[in-house]
Amino acid sequence: MVPVVVKNGAVPVKQEQISATGSFKDRGAFVLVSRARELGVEAVLEDSSGNAGTAIAAYCARAGISCDIYVPAATTSSKTRQIEAYGGRVMRIQGSREDTAEAAKAKAATAWYASHVYNPFFLHGVKTFAYEVWEQSGRAVPDLLVLPVGNGTLLLGAYLGFLELMKAGLAERMPGLVGVQAEACDPVVRAFHEETSREQDGVEAAAAARAAAPPAASSGGTVASGIAVAAPARLLQILEAVRESGGYVMSVSEEEIAGALTVAGEQGFYVEPTAAVGLAGAIKITGEGRHRPEDVVTAFTGHGLKKDH
Ligand SMILES: *Cc1c(COP(=O)(O)O)cnc(C)c1O
Repeated sequence: MVPVVVKNGAVPVKQEQISATGSFKDRGAFVLVSRARELGVEAVLEDSSGNAGTAIAAYCARAGISCDIYVPAATTSSKTRQIEAYGGRVMRIQGSREDTAEAAKAKAATAWYASHVYNPFFLHGVKTFAYEVWEQSGRAVPDLLVLPVGNGTLLLGAYLGFLELMKAGLAERMPGLVGVQAEACDPVVRAFHEETSREQDGVEAAAAARAAAPPAASSGGTVASGIAVAAPARLLQILEAVRESGGYVMSVSEEEIAGALTVAGEQGFYVEPTAAVGLAGAIKITGEGRHRPEDVVTAFTGHGLKKDH
């Protein structure tokens, strides 16, 4: 972890962008693809036009497994070029991101689905993130771990890792998990607040709050495209992990994401916009003085050289 200077001190930031394919998704892909190889699987499929697709393709190349990565037809990006460089087959599906997911799921009836969202082995790779945070914090648990949330694989992997550290008697508690979303696409934040108001004020008040809320989250309105997931499949699990940990969820504006990108760049870190969301959250909560920056850990989740704009 490297200290990144913010208003009231320095936040320790884990450098996930320097992994082999340029994002933390390597952690999950490594275990998932190793498991596939152990089972004798020769071909897999995945749907992701982003970092998960590139990571699965890279580890499949290492394992000698062929892979088809389903992406929306409109996708042209440095990430699809990276998938192809690893020998992954990019399968372009007409229609929306949801149509791509449906096509992948239909195919998954007869093929090995190396999904970073559904396949549990992915989370068992991502959990090593927690082991390292603990180790690099001096075999201790930070107060808060502030992480970007789209499908929630990083947050859920971290949760799993800390649970295991506790079971092993190495940690006495969990850090409070703080999930950060972009305001323009924040379904987890909405669900969290709805749940809270239902508990505190009852079902009717929660329904009224939902009716008064701005229109449903869409995936197009943010530079943080890597976490623009309008309907995360593991939503309930994410809410439970956050609550169990004593944490919460929050959103950051486009300006706050841009501000965090600037802070990162000026200190020598070139990350993609999505990868600055955790720092944006950390800057926000430490700037309000509620937490010392030193007690709040976050991560740069993906490399800036991957972005297309
Ligand atoms: C995947 C990803 C995230 C968020 O991960 P989820 O598992 O979708 O919550 C954050 N940053 C980057 C760069 C990513 O690729």
